[in-house]
Amino acid sequence: MISDNLREVQQEIQDSCALVSRSSSEVTLVGVTKSVNVEQTIELAEQGVKNLAENRVDQLLEKKEKMSHLTNLSWHFIGNLQRRKVKSIINEIDYFHALDSLKLASEIQKRAEKTICCFVEVNVSGEASKQGVAYEDLAEFIEQLAPFDKIKVVGLMTMAPLHSTKKEQHEIFAKLKKLQESVQEKRLNFAPCTQTSMGMSNDFSVAIQEGATFIRVGTTLFKD
Ligand SMILES: *Cc1c(COP(=O)(O)O)cnc(C)c1O
Repeated sequence: MISDNLREVQQEIQDSCALVSRSSSEVTLVGVTKSVNVEQTIELAEQGVKNLAENRVDQLLEKKEKMSHLTNLSWHFIGNLQRRKVKSIINEIDYFHALDSLKLASEIQKRAEKTICCFVEVNVSGEASKQGVAYEDLAEFIEQLAPFDKIKVVGLMTMAPLHSTKKEQHEIFAKLKKLQESVQEKRLNFAPCTQTSMGMSNDFSVAIQEGATFIRVGTTLFKD
């Protein structure tokens, strides 16, 4: 049941916050609904999860339309966004979690009719297969976003490798937090960078302990 799963996730958020003396109000649960249908997505929203994430343009648009009767929803796009699809999605979302190239930034700039809240995705682990800006290139990448007035860098996003140990997860998330603070300290108007989007079903507790403010949870919410 979604309601039971949600209660468990909320309890784990609270417990993880307690471990490091954080307030659970600092953590926003983003429900990742990419693997479920509209009915299940509606059920999650009705249980109070108002931040919803998809990684496919068509699915997000379809769900958003079918859920237009629900109020106060925020739509997040996670995962790879092809440049040719920017036009159809960018003005429909509240957060974009995967900004990782200047080409994509230019396309967003060209198509956006409002300021888009973006997370810059960082490849902290250095895995070759991972998306994201390389750790050592981040500072320069952020500076290069200055001319794009439609893009606001609200924070940084990362993913831990699939089969990482707890210790590795701690290291990766702590590194992202440090990077986020280093950008925030620059006090750039276009990049306030106060947030970190990190932690999924398997590792959100660790991410919270390392300072996550947005966690992206799918599988655990919809398990049988
Ligand atoms: C699928 C996905 C998630 C959610 O992962 P779960 O393991 O199902 O919780 C989070 N972030 C991104 C970028 C994803 O693609």
